[in-house]
Amino acid sequence: MLRRYYHAVKRSCRPCYHPRVVSLPRTASAIVIGGGVVGCSIAYHLARRGLRDVLVLERETVGSGTTSKAAGGIRAQFSTETEIRFSLESIRVFERFEEEFGVDPGYKKIGYLFLVSDAADLRGYEARISLQRRLGVDVRVITPDDARKLVPALRVDDLIAAVWGPDDGLAGPAEVTGGFARRARELGVRIAEGVRVTAIQRDGDRVSGVVTSEGSVSGPLVINAAGPAAASVARLAGVEVPVHPRRRHIFFTEPFPQIPGPVPLTTDRASGFYFRKEMEQVLLSPGDVEDIGADFEVPMNPAMLDEAVQKAIHRVPLLEQARIAGGWAGLRPLTPDDHAIIGWAPDVPGLFLAVGFGGHGFQHSPATGRHTATWILDGKPEMDLSLFDPGRFARTGVKAEADGATPSSLRPPTSHEDTALQYRAPDAE
Ligand SMILES: Cc1cc2nc3c(=O)[nH]c(=O)nc-3n(C[C@H](O)[C@H](O)[C@H](O)COP(=O)(O)OP(=O)(O)OC[C@H]3O[C@@H](n4cnc5c(N)ncnc54)[C@H](O)[C@@H]3O)c2cc1C
Repeated sequence: MLRRYYHAVKRSCRPCYHPRVVSLPRTASAIVIGGGVVGCSIAYHLARRGLRDVLVLERETVGSGTTSKAAGGIRAQFSTETEIRFSLESIRVFERFEEEFGVDPGYKKIGYLFLVSDAADLRGYEARISLQRRLGVDVRVITPDDARKLVPALRVDDLIAAVWGPDDGLAGPAEVTGGFARRARELGVRIAEGVRVTAIQRDGDRVSGVVTSEGSVSGPLVINAAGPAAASVARLAGVEVPVHPRRRHIFFTEPFPQIPGPVPLTTDRASGFYFRKEMEQVLLSPGDVEDIGADFEVPMNPAMLDEAVQKAIHRVPLLEQARIAGGWAGLRPLTPDDHAIIGWAPDVPGLFLAVGFGGHGFQHSPATGRHTATWILDGKPEMDLSLFDPGRFARTGVKAEADGATPSSLRPPTSHEDTALQYRAPDAE
């Protein structure tokens, strides 16, 4: 039995420095709420395009939100052209990140491998794969035996195929966020940590500034990049945004040389379980999706360790010999259709939304920042971003689960779930 003695450790990469409170200006040309990877990327891109007096307000410290919980996965295997283009643009940025930002992001192409045991699931991949290939993504359907050549520790007797993207990979969320923040500051952006936004002011319909724990700042443009807190921040301006934080756990083993690295980020489609190698350790997640109703404190649920262990041993029997050293839990900001919400808030001029990134906000942060800056400064997006339209839920009648049934995309995945298949290849990150 996989011996367990994990301690409820805090995520080791969580920044432990104290908030840098800078004196707040009275006015700003753009006020970004949230100093996560998305907010820092947007601030950097606005400043890079020449906008002065950009202010980022962060209630804790830069990158300490859900960005600090991300597994760092980066994939081009999405189901929509817009998201694939976001991935390809972001991958180009990760490839030359050190050159542009002076920080090594630890970018590695380890590949993403999806293990498929259900014929309907495999059929669901067909259209996605041809779209991905048309856009230049290297993705292949391979046999279970070929999957085992990539990851010899896998049990494959119950699989019918695997989907392999060799160019997918990973990078460090803390390093990337730090890189955006550093260059943003050099370009004149003020990043105020330890400052909580408590109200969004309006002059008639228009946004006119914010009230914070450290005083008020006026400005014509407020950008909501508040991650899992996006809905409560939007509510400060009277706007309902269907962003639902859902908890997910990740555990890690003690050094485990029996499975030598590198190992692709490998997802068992049937159970949602995924794993990869992190240095000498194995990182694994049960793929859980749980509503805990909070937007900041994320306690761990010990039952999730049992679930992770069970799924791990089924797919990778060798892991029975591993010892769990720790873990963490974080919130993924999900939307009812699993696509982000990027654009102007309907009916509230001056309020821009960049929220609801689910399990892919880290990897799409470079493209999100640039497209948001372009849209704001040029008056229109550079490409069709209607997939992310904030108004789409009102039009289609899709509502928050408070109204009744939980949207299928917010439930834990099953191998047969059409919505999950249709909207996202993996339920991994
Ligand atoms: C377990 C797990 C694994 C993941 N793995 C991956 C992965 O492999 N790849 C990937 O791309 N994504 C992954 N994600 C998703 C990713 O972490 C998020 O999509 C991304 O970090 C969102 O970034 P953000 O900047 O929008 O949010 P955050 O990092 O949460 O930033 C928002 C910030 O806003 C601040 N804030 C909120 N309210 C206020 C307020 N009122 N005033 C001031 N500041 C405020 C918060 O303190 C926070 O720092 C994972 C998530 C989890 C939980």
